Amino acid sequence: MSETKNVWNAVRGFEQYSLCDWPGRPCSVIFLGGCNLRCPTCHNATLAWSMSKLPPISGSAVKAYFRSRASWLDGVTITGGEPTCTPYLGELLYELKKFKLPVKVDSNGMRPEVIEDILEYNLADVFAVDVKGPYNKYPELTGMAVSELAAQANLEKVFAIAEKSPASFYFRLTKVPGLTQEDIDVARSYLPAGFSLKLQDYVEPRREKENAQPDYETRRPAGNVVN
Ligand code: SF4
Repeated sequence: MSETKNVWNAVRGFEQYSLCDWPGRPCSVIFLGGCNLRCPTCHNATLAWSMSKLPPISGSAVKAYFRSRASWLDGVTITGGEPTCTPYLGELLYELKKFKLPVKVDSNGMRPEVIEDILEYNLADVFAVDVKGPYNKYPELTGMAVSELAAQANLEKVFAIAEKSPASFYFRLTKVPGLTQEDIDVARSYLPAGFSLKLQDYVEPRREKENAQPDYETRRPAGNVVN
């Protein structure tokens, strides 16, 4: 398989038109499989941890959609999973840039070096980075995937990058169960001057703990996904 084909290998979902994934912008959403965290509150568990259970999405079909409908869109959101864990992410973004649409990348912020590279090569316009809570709650919030120190070190690198490119970042926190108002205030205090923390309500994933479809599946309605 060529590298070009591999660019699309992690694409496991495509939503043609969304009004809720990029505030203020109707956009398409590309879902990439794989994640470096294990958040117990994850809505996209199959996508994040078992992407092989989801069929790959045809890159040529996605590109055909963009060729015919790019003028209807105000951007493309790349989400996951965790996009910064995706091999060939840069190449995928490069292909998407050819459609002249603004690109937003969602990230948990734990791979700041990837964010820095993407920014340096001008492959994305905006990063939406999660601040999951106070650093000392990261082990609990991420299924023990990240230590308090690692969370702090990684997010501080992201904040430093954001200070240099403030128009390219916004930060968000999902109010998952267990987070207190004090936790939210502490998380907000981490942000560099001039940034605000966008709060998102937590919605319980519509799945049982075992043997049920992940909530992600509900975002792949027939006719709205290129497969
Ligand atoms: S970072 Fe996001 S995709 Fe990854 S496990 Fe946590 S909630 Fe799920």
